[in-house]
Amino acid sequence: MFSNKKVAFYTLGCKLNFAETSTIARSFQSINFEQVPFDQPADIYVINTCSVTDNADKRFKTIVKSALKTNESAFIIAVGCYAQLKPEELAAIHGVDLVLGATEKFKVTQYLSDLTKKDMGEVHSCEITEANFYEGSFSIGDRTRAFLKVQDGCDYKCTYCTIPLARGVSRSDTLENVLKNAKEIAAQGIQEIVLTGVNIGDYGKGEFGNKKHEHTFYELVQALDEVDGINRLRISSIEPNLLTDETINFVATSKTFVPHFHIPLQSGSDTLLKKMKRRYLRKTYTDRVAQIKETMPHACIGVDVIVGFPGETDELFLETYNYLNTLDIAYLHVFTYSERPNTEAYEMEGVVPLKTRHKRSKMLRGLSAKKRMAFYQSQLNTPVSVLFESENKAGYMFGFTENYIRVKTPWNPELVNTIHPVQLREIDEDGHVRFDWIKEEILIK
Ligand code: SF4
Repeated sequence: MFSNKKVAFYTLGCKLNFAETSTIARSFQSINFEQVPFDQPADIYVINTCSVTDNADKRFKTIVKSALKTNESAFIIAVGCYAQLKPEELAAIHGVDLVLGATEKFKVTQYLSDLTKKDMGEVHSCEITEANFYEGSFSIGDRTRAFLKVQDGCDYKCTYCTIPLARGVSRSDTLENVLKNAKEIAAQGIQEIVLTGVNIGDYGKGEFGNKKHEHTFYELVQALDEVDGINRLRISSIEPNLLTDETINFVATSKTFVPHFHIPLQSGSDTLLKKMKRRYLRKTYTDRVAQIKETMPHACIGVDVIVGFPGETDELFLETYNYLNTLDIAYLHVFTYSERPNTEAYEMEGVVPLKTRHKRSKMLRGLSAKKRMAFYQSQLNTPVSVLFESENKAGYMFGFTENYIRVKTPWNPELVNTIHPVQLREIDEDGHVRFDWIKEEILIK
């Protein structure tokens, strides 16, 4: 029926969205669609949306326009968090033909009977409470690493966040299914698996559709470490209050888990952490960082932080800045607070002017660059392993060490998707690390 039809995908947002797009793409391939790059002519364009910041909304419109520029009669489908949160708004955007909510996005191939363009997009959405079942996903598009979804949704109530409204309650894949997917990925020759979800530290909750924890994140990590054929396992992001000592100690001695932790902090001020309804205070965060650096001094720690949250005075911002400046961390992901309807923070007083938010964001991004260089510097002359990626960028190729250092070397196709021991030598003018090759046998974990 669709043998000569083409489909293209565009993903906004997080690693979880990339895993889900890849799974949806496989459902199109299973009914004989040919997948083409997004800038190529296609009969159908599927856009997997994000709604963490208002910028995501604007970007969606631009992407629809670019698809219609390539093929003005193409059928445009929107799925993902923005589609779940504001389906009518998306359906009213010129060119959008179909909007599918959280319960329908994996059934998109059941909505292809009429591909004619619509004046107003057709909406098939739901109450988020109906999205309480689990759909497994993993990405296999990129040759070097795959995103493996292990958990979805969130039961936390952070006052700035819309994700629970877009993705529903916390629920997990069965341990058995996670291991099956991991083996399938390994069988494709992919070297690195990145565990992803919304609140993966809460893994095990809702494995069998109830509120119980059948397994813990620690048990998941132990089980995955036993799967043959996987060279590297990376934990994408984990809440500080859910990162236990036993998980940290296990990663320190495990065969495959890499010494890289990305831990959302959001603010270095306890006053703001309480207003954000985060489930920890600064002391817990300090302890986590100390525990990691004690067991793995070469570990890389990345931090999410929000600037401009309502009530963030200059003093409270400086508290965050000074706190981060003292922490033994390697980089920051800085998010500028943006008002999201239906969140508690939306009604809060003490709104920070946009100009101030941008100034603070700039300061923290400056701090992040300083931290990253200091971390890279601290790792020079150490033997590490590098997983080389497949892109040739102006005659150079790149790769990441296990502790998330980005290295650069002249393009050599034989290195693609291979892991090699190297000795980090120096940081070049672009901030990439150069290295010397070392013989396999002197590689340390
Ligand atoms: S933990 Fe908080 S910030 Fe993260 S998804 Fe859940 S509610 Fe949102």
